[in-house]
Amino acid sequence: MHYFKMKYIGLLVPLILAITSLHAATQHAGKDHPVHWGYSGSASPDKWGSISNEFALCSSGKRQSPVDIKNEKSAVLYPLRFQYQSIPLRVINNGHTLQANYDTVSGEQTVSIGGKPYPMQTKSVYNSTLMLGDVPYKLLQFHFHSPSEHARKGERVAMEVHLVHKNANGNLAVVSVLLKRGRQNPILQKVLDNVSGRINEVNAAPGISVNAADLLPRNQQLFHYNGSLTTPPCSENVNWFVLTTPMEVSDKQISQFSNLIGKNARPLQAMHWRSMLVSE
Ligand SMILES: [Zn+2]
Repeated sequence: MHYFKMKYIGLLVPLILAITSLHAATQHAGKDHPVHWGYSGSASPDKWGSISNEFALCSSGKRQSPVDIKNEKSAVLYPLRFQYQSIPLRVINNGHTLQANYDTVSGEQTVSIGGKPYPMQTKSVYNSTLMLGDVPYKLLQFHFHSPSEHARKGERVAMEVHLVHKNANGNLAVVSVLLKRGRQNPILQKVLDNVSGRINEVNAAPGISVNAADLLPRNQQLFHYNGSLTTPPCSENVNWFVLTTPMEVSDKQISQFSNLIGKNARPLQAMHWRSMLVSE
């Protein structure tokens, strides 16, 4: 009996580890970091660069985000081609923002191990794409900031949503929509209504779907510059596309978001030698 138990545990432990790591990779997609950082006090943005060696770019980088959008030069840019699908809503409060994950979990898959079929869960499928020219970038997630991170001629608006995409080389394209005070934003409302009360718990909302296309204004003229993640580790591999036309959020939504997250906008960063372009 004892022998069989040990043998069983021997098989079980690696299986649990494999499932746990797969789960972690799927749920957090590299966004989480064990080092504590925040927007105020001892972990505030001016200290990010010294919290960890991995965050060094937050203080030493010369291509950081967000920035003040001004002195833009008119240019012929590739139009963004959004190929977005509706997916079942899955939202998380990661302690820094409210985020909707855009990978769809396809449910039970049958995987062949040594010729024998085994049912397996949590295979992620990314079914929504942004085409930049002929390069596909997969939509990973979207999340919100309050107030807006980018400013226009020195002025921030109430909120901003970031749609985060990644290409096969690991480079990012973030599409940003500024959200000014006005009418209720239907997608933000779905996120607010369905987020779990617990930090880092992904909440699947049965029967509720979301399409990131509904976050976008009809006019897709955009500002473009090269920048970084606006959160640690502040990696400088981000193509930024800030749409020139804002969408709206209501006062009630702004205060609901602030009650859950507080202020989560990084201070404006210097442009240095970079150019700000605007599509014609
Ligand atoms: Zn963001």
